[in-house]
Amino acid sequence: MRVAVIGAGAVGASAAYYLSRAKDVELTVFDEGLGQATKAAAGIISPWFSKRRNKAWYRLARLGADFYPQLLSDLEEDGISSNFYQRTGVFLLKKDEEKLEELYQLALTRRKESPLIGQLAILDETEAKVRFPDLEGFSKLLYATGGARVDGHLLTETLLKAAGAQVVAKKVTLTPVDDGYLVDGQHFDKVILATGAWLAECLEPLGYTVDIRPQKGQLRDYYFEDRDTQDYPVVMPEGEIDIIPFDKHRLTLGASHENDKGFDISFDRAVLDDMESKAQPYFSKWKQAKETRERVGIRAYTSDFSPFFGEVPHLAHVYAASGLGSTGLTIGPLLGQQLAQLVLGEPLLLEKRDYPIEKYIRLQDEG
Ligand SMILES: Cc1cc2nc3c(=O)[nH]c(=O)nc-3n(C[C@H](O)[C@H](O)[C@H](O)COP(=O)(O)OP(=O)(O)OC[C@H]3O[C@@H](n4cnc5c(N)ncnc54)[C@H](O)[C@@H]3O)c2cc1C
Repeated sequence: MRVAVIGAGAVGASAAYYLSRAKDVELTVFDEGLGQATKAAAGIISPWFSKRRNKAWYRLARLGADFYPQLLSDLEEDGISSNFYQRTGVFLLKKDEEKLEELYQLALTRRKESPLIGQLAILDETEAKVRFPDLEGFSKLLYATGGARVDGHLLTETLLKAAGAQVVAKKVTLTPVDDGYLVDGQHFDKVILATGAWLAECLEPLGYTVDIRPQKGQLRDYYFEDRDTQDYPVVMPEGEIDIIPFDKHRLTLGASHENDKGFDISFDRAVLDDMESKAQPYFSKWKQAKETRERVGIRAYTSDFSPFFGEVPHLAHVYAASGLGSTGLTIGPLLGQQLAQLVLGEPLLLEKRDYPIEKYIRLQDEG
């Protein structure tokens, strides 16, 4: 079976890896890579504190977080070492600190089905500073030891290498032919569209309307000379700003959520500087960084903020997932694995009806 995966972000790279583990699959991955959300992502894996009421979304988010240990163990079984995922814990801050107790109780309830949350504790400033020196702007916070961070770039790099797939770095189109599909002049039996925010661009030429809009996200990585950030927890104050520590002395500050910029991937220093000044009350040493680098990517949203996956209506053997929004690094690897299962005709963990692709992708003449 010849399979093309178009797009190699979290979804496509994971799909490629799981397809590569199956027998009799000849795989080609196409990826333009420009504006890819996965490479730009902040990398927070901590869905358990969300107050979103959408039960199907929450189930996907918690299963997505749970999937990481499975992915790591699959890679290990294949002899692949990886360091894209670390559970260094998460600090949750609230402007109204009385609400921390409420959040603590919510987390206790959710821990019953998600033991990955780990230990929970309310810490005061002195206790928090032991784990994250110089953090300030609060008198107490909620600490969950299971919160994790993922380096999106390393994630895809590891999965694609593990897949041993040929990656063609270009933008491609999909053309249905009698006995399959043509992609970049090559014939395929089955195709996965893991094209994130660019899904509409792929399917519109084939007569589809796709309910996906782009959202620009920017962040800045700060590199410190003598600060060992390796084991710092992720810090999530309320609002847009998060601080995500990585190894190699890096603190990432992000991310913007810009709804009016379309597919613009230029850096806007004013937006990045504004985030820095908003983060100043929590950490005042940004200017001590030896070096900074900026990243930008495009998130994909449906009009009701729900992700979807499945077989594209009226396009047999073409599968897609999109609409992952701001939690796509959390749910992307699981969705990629589920797309691989669909291609292989294997059973799914997720209920397809909870994430119905036909609600978001329609033929234009269907209205
Ligand atoms: C700034 C920022 C911060 C984020 N922070 C977090 C976070 O902390 N936690 C979290 O869980 N999620 C986070 N996200 C969300 C997450 O990154 C995305 O939801 C997820 O990475 C989307 O993965 P994807 O594979 O669907 O799409 P993408 O990663 O965007 O990959 C799609 C790929 O398809 C390629 N492509 C598209 N069309 C074509 C074509 N025709 N031919 C060839 N290639 C094509 C693109 O070039 C791209 O490389 C963040 C996103 C951003 C932008």
